[in-house]
Amino acid sequence: MDESRDAPVQNLSESPADGSGTPRSTVSRREFTTSCNFCSCGCGMIAAVRDGKLLTMEGDYDHIVNRGSLCVKGISMFATHTSPSRLTTPRYRAPGSDHWEDISWNDAITRVAQKIRKTRDATWIATEKVGDKEVPVNRTDAIGFMGGAQNTNEECYLFQKAARLLGLAYVEHQARL
Ligand code: SF4
Repeated sequence: MDESRDAPVQNLSESPADGSGTPRSTVSRREFTTSCNFCSCGCGMIAAVRDGKLLTMEGDYDHIVNRGSLCVKGISMFATHTSPSRLTTPRYRAPGSDHWEDISWNDAITRVAQKIRKTRDATWIATEKVGDKEVPVNRTDAIGFMGGAQNTNEECYLFQKAARLLGLAYVEHQARL
């Protein structure tokens, strides 16, 4: 999120989710400007937060890109965030298994790291012949890296760096396919 700003608190109240009808104070509610990350248009959004929980997301009328409007993907962002179908833990399907099981983040990271290491070591190309010269190339062609439209610029920078450091030549982005 880019910037925090206090929400206007006068004459504002919210109906509580418990349906009690008693308006709740908005004093603890804060708003942050942020960007929709579903595509590269970068439409501005305002996220309202209370006690560390996201309350609403809407288009930012002051943002030069979208002036408050959002396409259907941007409008759906809050529903996606709160959807009960949203996966919040990594899942694993064992070879031959017919079902997925939840695993911990530590387990998922360890599994991915081990597979990358094993594949990279087994397929490493240190040098290649160019003309009559053997030149260093230091890469593996056995692993590809796919980014997504939901990644931020900062995430893409880090992913790209990690992929190149691992010696990956095939680095792509889902939006180009
Ligand atoms: S609201 Fe729509 S057009 Fe704007 S950044 Fe999100 S996906 Fe792109």
